[in-house]
Amino acid sequence: MKLIADTHIHSMACSHAYSTVMENIEAARQKGLHYMAMTEHAPTMPDAPHIWHVQSQWDVPSFWNGVNILHGVEANVIDENGSLDVSEKILASLEWVITSMHRQCLPVTTRENHTNAWLKIAQNPNVDVIGHCAKSGYDFDEEVVLKAFKEYGKLVEINNSCFTPDSTCIPRYMEIARCCKRWEIPVVVNTDSHFAGNIGVFDLALKALKEIDFPEKLIVNADLGRFEEIVAQKRAGVRRF
Ligand SMILES: [Zn+2]
Ligand SMILES: [Zn+2]
Repeated sequence: MKLIADTHIHSMACSHAYSTVMENIEAARQKGLHYMAMTEHAPTMPDAPHIWHVQSQWDVPSFWNGVNILHGVEANVIDENGSLDVSEKILASLEWVITSMHRQCLPVTTRENHTNAWLKIAQNPNVDVIGHCAKSGYDFDEEVVLKAFKEYGKLVEINNSCFTPDSTCIPRYMEIARCCKRWEIPVVVNTDSHFAGNIGVFDLALKALKEIDFPEKLIVNADLGRFEEIVAQKRAGVRRF
């Protein structure tokens, strides 16, 4: 299976990533990707850039060096009410909003709390993608939450970086992927690259999906036409200010 987009990528704007945006774009071109997304960490992450980085990223054109670029962010869930650390106004101005739970920004508490947070996020019209939800031990009611993601049109991310041999979240991620297959929930396979050389390298996630015979039609970035329909919808809803 050949994927045409990598929609979760970091750059040196945060200090725990190691490539420039220009290097990322060149890597995407070399890998033959049609699209990449800029999804830098939002300010609650300890070494994230100032929010101006997110607001000003439109200096990077929507098409450069043969690659289409989606302007986005990886926003942090910061409480059990599903609050995010980026204002609604800024989120609404972006083309690709990932929301993730990170230990640095949200304590692991109870299954009920995590379930509540995800249910609120499901209903947030500014959110596009649910980032690495099997990671970091945030237990939640999978049936209730994943079905809500489907109902409200959120894409569930299958994050390649969670499938390295030393990863402890593989069994949980496999279970979530099985649920997505069972309930026909669309997913997006991403790398979450913090180095340009990892962009477009989806091998581990694709191998895991193949093991459970995951249907290609549910992977939104496995087909250019399917992906471009989604991008057109996202872009139609963007409100720049
Ligand atoms: Zn993350
Ligand atoms: Zn990330």
